[in-house]
Amino acid sequence: MNLNIVNIETVLNSKWNRNPTGKSIDNISIDSRSLQNNDKTLFFALVGTNHDAHIYLKDLIGKGVRNFVVTHIPDGLESKANFLVVKNTLEALQQIAAHYRSLFSFPIIGVTGSNGKTIVKEWLNFLLSPDYNIIRSPKSYNSQVGVPLSVLAINEKHNLGIFEAGISTVSEMDKLEKIIQPTIGILTNIGSAHDEGFKNLEEKVKEKMLLFKDSEVVIFQKNSDVEKFILPKTKTISWSFTDTTAAVFVSKKEHTHEHTGIEYTYKGNISTLKIPFVDDASVENVITCLSVLLHLEYDAKTIQSRIELLYPIEMRLKVKKGINNCSLIDDSYSSDFQSLKIALDFLESQKQHQKKTVVLSDIFQSGLSNEVLYSKVAELIVSNNISRFIGIGETISTLKTKLPNAIFFKDTNEFLLHLEQLNFENETILIKGARSFQFEEIVAAFAEKTHETVLEINLNAISHNFNFFKSKIKATTKMMAMVKAFGYGSGGFEIAKLLEHHKVDYLGVAFADEGISLKTAGIKLPIMVLNPENTSFPAIIQHQLEPEIYSLKGLNAFLKIAEQKKLKDFPIHIKLDTGMHRLGFEANTIDDLIATLKGNSTVKVQSILSHLATSDDLQHKDFVQYQINLFEKLSSQLMNELEITPIRHILNTSGISNFPQAQYDMVRLGIGLYGVSNDSEEQKYLENVGTLKSIISQIRTIQTGESVGYGRRFMANRESKIATIPIGYADGIARSWGNGVGFVTIKNKKAPILGSVCMDMLMVDVTEIECKEGDSVVIFGESPTVTYMAEQLKTIPYEILTSISQRVKRVFYRE
Ligand SMILES: *Cc1c(COP(=O)(O)O)cnc(C)c1O
Repeated sequence: MNLNIVNIETVLNSKWNRNPTGKSIDNISIDSRSLQNNDKTLFFALVGTNHDAHIYLKDLIGKGVRNFVVTHIPDGLESKANFLVVKNTLEALQQIAAHYRSLFSFPIIGVTGSNGKTIVKEWLNFLLSPDYNIIRSPKSYNSQVGVPLSVLAINEKHNLGIFEAGISTVSEMDKLEKIIQPTIGILTNIGSAHDEGFKNLEEKVKEKMLLFKDSEVVIFQKNSDVEKFILPKTKTISWSFTDTTAAVFVSKKEHTHEHTGIEYTYKGNISTLKIPFVDDASVENVITCLSVLLHLEYDAKTIQSRIELLYPIEMRLKVKKGINNCSLIDDSYSSDFQSLKIALDFLESQKQHQKKTVVLSDIFQSGLSNEVLYSKVAELIVSNNISRFIGIGETISTLKTKLPNAIFFKDTNEFLLHLEQLNFENETILIKGARSFQFEEIVAAFAEKTHETVLEINLNAISHNFNFFKSKIKATTKMMAMVKAFGYGSGGFEIAKLLEHHKVDYLGVAFADEGISLKTAGIKLPIMVLNPENTSFPAIIQHQLEPEIYSLKGLNAFLKIAEQKKLKDFPIHIKLDTGMHRLGFEANTIDDLIATLKGNSTVKVQSILSHLATSDDLQHKDFVQYQINLFEKLSSQLMNELEITPIRHILNTSGISNFPQAQYDMVRLGIGLYGVSNDSEEQKYLENVGTLKSIISQIRTIQTGESVGYGRRFMANRESKIATIPIGYADGIARSWGNGVGFVTIKNKKAPILGSVCMDMLMVDVTEIECKEGDSVVIFGESPTVTYMAEQLKTIPYEILTSISQRVKRVFYRE
């Protein structure tokens, strides 16, 4: 893309604060972490209900970004960069995108619907790519932010666009329509997903159909609820299994084990098509694609030859564990330039290893000449500080002169032959290639062979939950995030890294070794250690951790070492016992505490804290108030007599929700970050973070009277289909979750657990569920939720989360 900096003024109806340096913008950014932020970037400082990108502007100026669209110029930055002040930075981004879109006149396909948008978009891209230079939304960039960013990636060489539009409530589609301006509209399945934002189905359909306001043609599954919102001027191509008046009438549908065969009539001709999927959703998505191909006048033979090759789509980037302590980012089904940028940003956000490697295939359909394309690729590789670059294919070897240290192979096989010699170890490897290169073989060669159970952690959900609690406290209140017990079981380092990005003020861990591993992995935030053992004090000092001191004994032991090491003002945290009776100075020890600290300059009381015993239970409100009053009294006494002004803090997650008046200078957020609230109202605002997943190992049918598992605790009273899942109590699933108490979710349906949970396995009833071996199983996540499990098992979500064994792989992803 290329935008004239002065034209932007006209589009946004605002003036630069000073004469901008440079003339053109070739990169639009909203992500402060992206390494592609440079002097030709225009950065939009987006403001959400719970976050505000203006806090990153100073850092970005330090990194060389010069041009910003903002709602206000932060103090002290006026003379440091070029600013365009607007009322709403998101609307400004959308206006720029709409303006940019209107500069191009090739056909644009706009896809919306409740399910299947991304799949249909990716498949159409695959099916049409032999004949067009396609620009499409990367991944599922379909939101108010994602759509403008996708559209801004169009260039002169493209001759077809495919963009996805996703909405969650009324009045959103109008904005997306202005940006996409589709000429061909596609409505995928209009199921019941995301319905909360709409009064009813009618309102939802009506809103979605706004995308097609000025489209020439709309393609959809025939349905009168949809048809009534299609304008008379718009041409339609509908398809149907039942209605013979549909343009594409599917008269037959037969499954084999691996295929679905259909027979369809279009313009009076009957044709057959073999679809390489058996599930209903995939078949419907293929028929939607078929309708588009028919509209574009492809013949039945070409259609068959292309649809035969369709493959399942991996929807998001994920990090997997690889051999020799490597981490893998598997992006093995696409290699366009736009998604390369996204994948490199994702690679940058992974901090497990210093060393970063990219394995990339030839890039197709960029719309650019090889020379221009690979120059841009080289720039990206250099600006992202990639340690080693491996190119596979014919055209990518153009990079030889531009990246002198890169290694090239002519095809995937040749690369695999050299795998040993390349000595992959302790590095993060992005594996990204076009479908035809079959990079899945590379991924398989790298992947660590472990069992199929994973705990998937949604990093976006953590950001969301963090921002939610941040918005509940005063802007001046600091935030400590508790990442003890391996981030409540969700992964200590990755979460700490994310929180560092969100500029959390403090981290809290339980033991010194947890803090040490965070510091050694590169976390710079101050870290408080809740329960430092005296033996760990030297290590605490060495790694600049900050101990919580809760007794005179501990204080004296720490002072002794601190004095030996001639420390000055070393930060410590004083814990007061106000009623929890776990750790802390009691009221009757305060005088001694004061006497010991008075005039001592080896340590500095960085903060004073206490912990509430009943913040989650409003029946005990009075006790909380008693604790707060005592905290007020004791901490004031310390502050007055020692003449200090430390940070004071007493609230945990449910304290933030129930006793906001006691937030003092800081709060300590724990379980809320991980998506759990003890208040069902508040729970609605949090996003689920962890999904524990496994697969079906085996399925069998048993007869009435036969039993399942140890002790024959389940007896079938009908013919039953039983699936075995490779997860058990050694993975952290309570044994009492079996025997009809608990269930897992397979294909969105509940499968009750039969008999007792075994050490490494459990068995479920799938009599009513259409499923096969290898299918995915959700143990907890959206359903059942951890909160539900805890209620049934008479425990608390904390225990469930932290019980998941370390042998279960953690996989982190961003939406
Ligand atoms: C664990 C812990 C927290 C966080 O509690 P949540 O209920 O998870 O928010 C806060 N303070 C202390 C001292 C803790 O041990």
